[in-house]
Amino acid sequence: MGCSVKMFCPKCSSLLLPRKEKNKTIFVCSCGYKSKSKDNIKLREVIKKNKRKAEPVNEDYHPLPLTDAECPKCKHKKAFYWLVQTRASDEAETKFYKCEKCKHIWREYG
Ligand SMILES: [Zn+2]
Ligand SMILES: [Zn+2]
Repeated sequence: MGCSVKMFCPKCSSLLLPRKEKNKTIFVCSCGYKSKSKDNIKLREVIKKNKRKAEPVNEDYHPLPLTDAECPKCKHKKAFYWLVQTRASDEAETKFYKCEKCKHIWREYG
């Protein structure tokens, strides 16, 4: 138990049933969908998982410029920075820093 892999139909999302054909296992669905081979479905699942994983990785990746700023938390001297326009468009931009070392985020006051 536990190691049996459940496959789902890419067309109607119902559970695919394994069927032995010659010397390989294919998966079939009641809607008529037939997988070419077990390996093909596995490959597709891996690609899906990778896509999902890639999103948070991209979020965490900041192509931001580094500047000299002291982190209030760990006293590290380098931080990434970016500017954010707050509320009214005529208001000055707020500078945000993200510590290169501990990832602490703070904003510049004054
Ligand atoms: Zn189906
Ligand atoms: Zn820090």
